[in-house]
Parts: sequence; structure tokens; C-alpha cells
Amino acid sequence: MVEVSRTVSAPGDLGVALARVAPQSPIEMELRLESVMEGVLVSGAVDVQVSAECARCLEPIAWEEAVDVSELFAYPATDARGAVVEEPEDDEDPLPVLEGDLIDLEPTLRDSVVTALPMAPLCRDDCAGLCPECGIRLDDHPGHEHQTVDPRWAALAGLAEHDPGQATAEAQPDARNK
Ligand SMILES: [Zn+2]
Ligand SMILES: [Zn+2]
Repeated sequence: MVEVSRTVSAPGDLGVALARVAPQSPIEMELRLESVMEGVLVSGAVDVQVSAECARCLEPIAWEEAVDVSELFAYPATDARGAVVEEPEDDEDPLPVLEGDLIDLEPTLRDSVVTALPMAPLCRDDCAGLCPECGIRLDDHPGHEHQTVDPRWAALAGLAEHDPGQATAEAQPDARNK
């Protein structure tokens, strides 16, 4: 068994809609390489720097995500004389294959990280989100609300503001009803 610690820089386009690993950010890998019958088993942990937006309020958030990795890299298929043969491509999800002594970790890393990232990250569990009327972030404005005015009366409300007589009438509603 071989243990490998390595830091690589993140490839571009590693993430999901609202959460991603910043390109060029360091990815710390602590991996074990074990030789097994079929090939080389790679397992361990990968730490990535995630940057995201809250799914409710779009506030930027960032955290470090530890992602477990486990993948068997198969030896290439060989014929009776030891020559590498091309495998038929009918396998739905073929194992990654060792190419000489090289292991291409990027597809494995990509699958593991993308699976680990949340589809709907939140800045905090009870984030109140954005005001549906004006779009301000409700956590920044506790108690924020709008007077709900029937749009048919909104025009009249505008008139009342400019008409002192109307305002007086509203202040004394009983006077009109008698
Ligand atoms: Zn939020
Ligand atoms: Zn609002």
C-alpha cells in the first residue's frame, strides 16, 4: 500500500449550479493506493474549498468540504500473450483503466466532489430569504413588511396624499356616515 499526500490546484468548472470549487484553489488529497487483483484501489479524503450562493438569499458563502474518494482503477484487459486489448464499449459505467503506471484522478475527483456538493446551499438553516415584493434580504431587515394595498385602491391612496380635504374626511369617518 502506498500513501500519497498531495495538493493540486482545482480544475475549472468543478461544481453544481449554486456551489463550486474555485478554479486554481488548492485541493488537498490524502490518498491510499492499494494493489488488488483487478487493479489499484484508490481511496481517501480530499479537501476542497467551496464557494457558493445561498439558495434562498443569494448571499455568498464559503466552506471547506471533506470529500471521500474511493475508486478502483482496473488493469487494462490483456490477451493470452499479455498484449492490451481494446474492451468492447458496451459497458454502461466502465471502471477507469490504468494507463501504464498512470492514474487519471480528475474524473474520479469530479464525480466525488459534484456528488458531495449541496444542490441548495443555505447561509444558515433558517435563512428567511428575500422579500418577494422588493427583493431585500429579510435577515438584514427583521420585521420588514409591506402594506398590502389592493391595486384598485392604490390610485385613490395616491390622491388622498395630495388632497387635504380627503385626509380630513378619512380622519373622521363617522361624519360621512351620519
Ligand atoms: Zn441565505
Ligand atoms: Zn420588501
